[in-house]
Amino acid sequence: MELVVLGAGTPYPRPDRACSGYLLRADDIRVWVDAGPGTLANLQRHVRPDQLSAIWLSHTHADHTADLLSAYYALAFADLSPTAPIPVLGPPGWAERMEAFLASGEPNPMSRVFEVHELHDGHEVTLGGLRLTSRAVEHGLPAFGLRAEHGGHSLAYSGDTGPCPALDDLARDADLLLCEADSSTWPSDEPRWHCTPEDAGATARRAGVGRLVVTHVGPSLSPEEATRRARTAFGGPTHCAHEGDVYSPSGT
Ligand SMILES: [Zn+2]
Repeated sequence: MELVVLGAGTPYPRPDRACSGYLLRADDIRVWVDAGPGTLANLQRHVRPDQLSAIWLSHTHADHTADLLSAYYALAFADLSPTAPIPVLGPPGWAERMEAFLASGEPNPMSRVFEVHELHDGHEVTLGGLRLTSRAVEHGLPAFGLRAEHGGHSLAYSGDTGPCPALDDLARDADLLLCEADSSTWPSDEPRWHCTPEDAGATARRAGVGRLVVTHVGPSLSPEEATRRARTAFGGPTHCAHEGDVYSPSGT
């Protein structure tokens, strides 16, 4: 199992810094995990969009989903030819939100190219030898984190969330935790909807993960500072996700 970083930026894409998106691959399974702006182009370095096994969306904020609209146009109107609709697993209502933007006039246009699935807390799906478990996390709207398991190895992805028990559960004893570190600080009297680098590091430590990769570093931080602070809180191997990186939970 490998995780390819297609984009790790927020809240808008810049040259060589697309927003949130990853390619999860194991055997012949290919899953596009979050479809932030800029990631569809990078995805095509690795797989044709019509050959994806599935698409998984953590939540409907644009920095995680906007390129699904581009993928719709690619699959519906261009030279790509999916043999069957591509399963898309996302938070409840994701398809209606996307269809409202399309305003195509036809009923359920997303179903032309996508097979609509809605996540719930504890949702599980198996694709070949890859098992995906989704848990509801804390982001102020329906949002999910992900655990992927294959061949005795595991990785967890926070999506966007504040620290929460579900994130700890997803990360428990995982070989690798890919965790957002959006915020430098967070007001103590407000609901926690993002992690600080210290939150990412503390989650990794509590969950006993092997390696921590910080991602989705917000504009109030530099990737270097986020990584240094997360590493201090974790006390274990800590990296920062950069576009093009390939991580293997088995350690290579
Ligand atoms: Zn978000």
